[in-house]
Amino acid sequence: MTEKRWISETLFDDLGFRIAYEADRVLYEMQTGHQHLVLFENRRFGKILMLDGATQVTTADEFIYHEMMTHVPILAHGKAEDILIVGGGDCGIAEEALKHRAVGHVTQVEIDASVVEFSREHFPEFTGPVLADPRFDLVIDDGIRFVKETDRRFDVIIVDSTDPQGPGAVLFSDDFYAGCRRCMKAGGVMVTQNGVPFFQPGELADSVAKFRRLWAEGTCYVAAIPTYIGGHMAMGWATDNSALRQTAPETLAHRYDAAGRFPTRYWTPEVHRAAFALPRFIADIVAKP
Ligand code: SAM
Repeated sequence: MTEKRWISETLFDDLGFRIAYEADRVLYEMQTGHQHLVLFENRRFGKILMLDGATQVTTADEFIYHEMMTHVPILAHGKAEDILIVGGGDCGIAEEALKHRAVGHVTQVEIDASVVEFSREHFPEFTGPVLADPRFDLVIDDGIRFVKETDRRFDVIIVDSTDPQGPGAVLFSDDFYAGCRRCMKAGGVMVTQNGVPFFQPGELADSVAKFRRLWAEGTCYVAAIPTYIGGHMAMGWATDNSALRQTAPETLAHRYDAAGRFPTRYWTPEVHRAAFALPRFIADIVAKP
């Protein structure tokens, strides 16, 4: 009987702890040109993708992150047609964005073609509908270069990045956010994967301070995602239109109906609105410096 392999998330090594998953089956493991990639099966969480020791997506709870990173900005905006996804390798965000009838174009800028390639085989539930959709456009590039050079303009920018390590580090820089500001249409909004405030308060405070140097409003909203351990996960929020964050549930419900009322398992109009009600310790992290 071969010894079962345990695979640990090493993202919080500097804090002195790890979470480990028993790997019932390792499906794929490689060092790409950018990062270490391992995909394995765990009997409770299904398929788990880790990049450089950080959990990216699991089939058991991906719906929470993907729904909240996508439907919140698109339905708050109300008239979003052009969506930019930076990162997003597994295509889970793109799959949610393309459910919206009024979305005309989704551009995904992913630095590592290997992630998309292997997601084609291992996450067909995301990549299948996405790669077949004529509204979807995949660009293999560094997100920071793209936002600084593109002549395209976007209503919603979703930064579905890894953590600020390796190739993902630049996606937390002033330079990158200035590029996002540059290619955002008037009235647009940017949301970012901004970690778990209980363990990564500095990352969130740093991003929000940078947002406020470029937009009228910088804050975050939260969701509870089991495999992003540490309680609430923060999603950064940057826009010049502070009314977007206060969109009433009734308005969101109406927009959701118009978008096609596709099934969701976490997002509701009420959960959307409540996500901006920050626990005191998180509100303190993002309070004006
Ligand atoms: N949902 C995950 C999370 O919350 O951590 C992130 C999903 S996705 C796998 C993250 C993607 O960002 C990866 O595919 C990675 O290759 C990509 N990425 C990292 N740095 C990048 C950069 N500078 N430009 C574009 N994509 C980048």
